[in-house]
Amino acid sequence: MKIFKKKKCKICKDKTGTRFCLRKGFNICWEDCNILRVDEKCPDECDYHLQNSDIMQLKGKSDSQMEYIDLLKKQMDIWVKKPQSIFQDKIPVTMAESSDGRKKIVDFLSQFKINPMVPLSYLKERLSLDDLKVVSNPQTYEDIAFEFMQNLYTNEWVKVASFMTNHNYWVAHEMEDEFIKIISNNMVIKKINNFDLISSALTKEKDQALVYFDINNKFDLTISLKLTNDHWNIRSLIIGKPELFNSESEAIQQIAILLSKNETTKAFELLSKYSSIYIMSSDFEYYWGLYYTFTKNQDKAEKHFLQAMILDPAFVEVKYNYAFILHSKGEIESAKSLYKEILQEAPNEPKTLNNFASILIDEKEYKEAEKLLNKCIKSNPEFEIAKQNLERLEKLMN
Ligand SMILES: [Zn+2]
Repeated sequence: MKIFKKKKCKICKDKTGTRFCLRKGFNICWEDCNILRVDEKCPDECDYHLQNSDIMQLKGKSDSQMEYIDLLKKQMDIWVKKPQSIFQDKIPVTMAESSDGRKKIVDFLSQFKINPMVPLSYLKERLSLDDLKVVSNPQTYEDIAFEFMQNLYTNEWVKVASFMTNHNYWVAHEMEDEFIKIISNNMVIKKINNFDLISSALTKEKDQALVYFDINNKFDLTISLKLTNDHWNIRSLIIGKPELFNSESEAIQQIAILLSKNETTKAFELLSKYSSIYIMSSDFEYYWGLYYTFTKNQDKAEKHFLQAMILDPAFVEVKYNYAFILHSKGEIESAKSLYKEILQEAPNEPKTLNNFASILIDEKEYKEAEKLLNKCIKSNPEFEIAKQNLERLEKLMN
């Protein structure tokens, strides 16, 4: 796959030009768009034009909170230097030179209930308004995503891992290093030289968010976050634009169909393509595992099932496949502990009940094995292997 550099902003010649400016006639970055549009002279036809905005109340589109806050600061910069009718046409910066003037500004600002997103501290500092009460800005999903990106950039892998949804599970199961291996070996991730936040979006329920970054003026990276117990965690990364987030399930389905038809060559092509986009998807790792199982490459299958399990420890089918490989390789203790884990999450999972029972038979734990097999057959009367195992067990017990 050949990746071309993206077109740069024609104003700063540094950031990627992510939007077309109707005023300039070329692509610019959002920072330069803010510099231009804050004068409220952009044409109405532009989605980003600002119109008749009062101080701290912008009427115009922003693609991210970061852009919105930046725009508010620029608006404040203009406001402080212009005669304000509310102050009998006095100029805030001039007023701020006297304590009486500062008091008037503070009184004016204090009458509003101000959105905590508004960078009031910026205005406070700008005009030395020591008496202005400012609530600290809440930490948003963008802040978390940004901090995460900084840690990716500086290769602080242990910190990177701490942002992830499954972090506690990894620590408890000594798997953090396995995750670090996956993320630190990614071709795009390890080559981050610069990154810019381009846009973000929040779901209606306000518990999931996507934050989109530009990497090295070359790649797209979308971070998916989830809110759990009032804390934003990072769920996955996509090497691509945010739109791709919604196509993941369709892509998974395509692979599942190809593998079910045994079309392994096509499955290989699509798996290669999608797993370079959905770099932290347990589903694609799972299907890689199945692919290598079908093509009889047990070592690779094992590796991918393990990766899938790290990426989603609650994925029962993955855990089962991984446990089964360990079991068939004779790594009985590891297989057993995984089977136990599966049965805690899915107490009736038939293959697990049967396989665990067969280990117990070998260990002469007949009573326990019998319990598991009966449970297995009760919920799956057609499961022949389990029935054969039970017959074998009954002979042993007599
Ligand atoms: Zn620019």
